[in-house]
Amino acid sequence: MRASTYPLVDADEAAALVLEHTPSLGSESRPLGECAGRVVAHDVVAPAALPAYPVSAVDGFAVRATDAGKTLRVLGESAAGRPYAGDVSSGTAARILTGGVLPDGADCVVMFEDVTADGDTVAVPTGLKPGSNFHAPGADVRQGELVIAAGSVLGPAEIGLAAALGLPELRVGRLPRVALMSTGDELVEVGRTPGRGQITDSNRWALLAALREAGAEVTVLGIAPDRQDELRALVTGALESADALVTSGGVSVGTHDLVKPLLESLGSVHVGRVKLKPGKPFTFATLGDGKLAFGLPGFPVSSLVTFEVFVRPALRKMQGFSQRHRPTLPVRLGFEARAVGDRTEYHRVTLHRDGRDLVAQTTGSQSSSRLMSLAGAHGLVRVPPGDQGLRAGSFVEALILSLP
Ligand code: AMP
Ligand code: MG
Repeated sequence: MRASTYPLVDADEAAALVLEHTPSLGSESRPLGECAGRVVAHDVVAPAALPAYPVSAVDGFAVRATDAGKTLRVLGESAAGRPYAGDVSSGTAARILTGGVLPDGADCVVMFEDVTADGDTVAVPTGLKPGSNFHAPGADVRQGELVIAAGSVLGPAEIGLAAALGLPELRVGRLPRVALMSTGDELVEVGRTPGRGQITDSNRWALLAALREAGAEVTVLGIAPDRQDELRALVTGALESADALVTSGGVSVGTHDLVKPLLESLGSVHVGRVKLKPGKPFTFATLGDGKLAFGLPGFPVSSLVTFEVFVRPALRKMQGFSQRHRPTLPVRLGFEARAVGDRTEYHRVTLHRDGRDLVAQTTGSQSSSRLMSLAGAHGLVRVPPGDQGLRAGSFVEALILSLP
């Protein structure tokens, strides 16, 4: 063992350093079918009005409001997709169905329920109002109106709106291409029975899921042995096409921990150790051309918590998300959270409702090897460094992973 030469960086400072060095990846044009969950890169302005023409909201008769109380001659029908070609003049009406175009000359629609139809005549009630029962052109969207602001996340409604406006594709933030690698001679593929001293590579699957949730396109490099030359060959090969590298393991101070010296030889290490629990050995480097490398610790909880704190916000910045961090909510602590010296702790909690409060309960032992501390957790509570900790019953802002 040798002592680490990297200074211990404050957790918030490390998170700020990562974002500072994270570039935006720019945008690309994608068909609507690939836009869900992505960030639109420019303001979407309506090229046309919606609806484009006056369209009936009900089934009934298109008439002139000044003909209220009269019996009118029915000249034809306007159905959705089959407009009536003629005009509606005084003393006449056209049958109209929902979605049908309001014929020229008509200024309102009377509902079937409100008329007495007899052969080709219809008696309409008194008190008709011009403009009633149809959607005027531009009532939903005016031509030139800003409908989706740059930086918005595209959900079903936004995508439907783009389609309704005749836009088959949108410019969206490019997705980060990430190479994922596990390191360690003790690792075996999932499904193989580990021998004595071996463990299953679980980080690969946990981080693959986390990366995909964060929007990344992942290339899985598999398990790299604890040998400098093989590690170097894998990393340099992967970086030819990736925007970022995410590794797990090999960043603590044992003699087999080769990731930090490798990253140092390939670029600049900005963070080599963090005042964070779990995740003290977290390493962040830039490798030229705006490429990023995240050396996550090997312990399963440490790798996922450092992913949450450092990697996920960076991947979201790359894609143009304005909201890079998890939302927070005030929660009442249902337990006493002791501080851990000079490190910020991300304590894993479950949440439940108690009246109007959300109450946070610890998930139990916060050991960095114990994935059960994170499995089923709804949130993370930041316990500040020092000797105060957080008292049971106090309210704090928790990072929300999911709601109960
Ligand atoms: P290291 O940082 O390489 O010393 O790894 C610390 C510990 O994390 C190891 O002793 C393993 O128990 C665990 N570990 C490392 N890599 C993985 C992995 N890919 N999957 C599960 N556990 C791992
Ligand atoms: Mg290792």
